[in-house]
Amino acid sequence: ATPTALLVGTGRGAQLGILIKGPEVLESTRRVDTIVLDKTGTVTTGKMALQGVVAAAGTDSDEALRLAGAVEDASEHPIARAIAAAAAEAGKLPPVVDFANVEGRGVRATVEGREVLVGRESFLVSESVAVPDELIKAREEAEQEGRTAVLVAWAGQARAVLIIADAIKPTSAEAVRRFAKLGLTPVLLTGDNRAVADRVAAEVGIDRVIAEVLPQDKVDVITKLQGEGKVVAMVGDGVNDAAALAAADLGLAMGTGTDVAIEAADLTLVRGDLRAAADAIRLSRRTLSTIK
Ligand code: ADP
Ligand code: MG
Repeated sequence: ATPTALLVGTGRGAQLGILIKGPEVLESTRRVDTIVLDKTGTVTTGKMALQGVVAAAGTDSDEALRLAGAVEDASEHPIARAIAAAAAEAGKLPPVVDFANVEGRGVRATVEGREVLVGRESFLVSESVAVPDELIKAREEAEQEGRTAVLVAWAGQARAVLIIADAIKPTSAEAVRRFAKLGLTPVLLTGDNRAVADRVAAEVGIDRVIAEVLPQDKVDVITKLQGEGKVVAMVGDGVNDAAALAAADLGLAMGTGTDVAIEAADLTLVRGDLRAAADAIRLSRRTLSTIK
């Protein structure tokens, strides 16, 4: 269902591509002092691309990509899209059975009789997969360069590291400057690793980073900030963060994100440009002072 769309400041709001659920939302825009930004798909484009595959000794990297791609083909995650696209480009993907998605950790399925897992190292380890030192080293190196690295494993053994990069939106740094002008403290929130999160934060000018947060724990981050007396706005794309959007005092959805996000949020930024989040808050505050 589409929310009752009311355009902030009418003409100007429409021009900026801002949809607001109802007039009661305006009041929250005046009180917010903290803005939590989901990383993937919000601060970054979320359009990840596979940069490389590092295979363990004795593993063929094309085979590792083929099996990982087959499993990821069933997932909507930006990391999965990147891996599946690269694998499909190299050849036909085999069918999978018993696919399962473990939110914020990885995916698993049976491919050609083999149990294949793709995800973060801690996910594989928790599934009793052995990870050779050479792959741990490759993962660490990729992360130090600010890339996201996931591992693929089958038959109980990690076989390769898949290196993925995600571009920061060119408008994100300007958006962060606009938040500061509005007196909002930006916080970067992500399930991704700390090194990647820190690099993205530094590049757009955010000082506070909350990384390696599981999807179900994103809500707790919001309520904890609220417990500290903060009035929290949250911007996300709905991939793993819809509950956090709903818990925030003001939830802003990227219109380029999922329907769940738009459903959960108070405001929708149609074009997925983070600057519109600042403009929406500024315009709402102004609209409110005009009414009063
Ligand atoms: P974010 O908070 O940046 O949107 P997520 O919470 O969605 O990130 O995911 C956190 C981490 O879990 C990813 O960086 C990745 O290591 C792992 N992960 C999640 N889903 C997948 C997947 N489909 N394939 C591989 N790894 C995944
Ligand atoms: Mg996300």
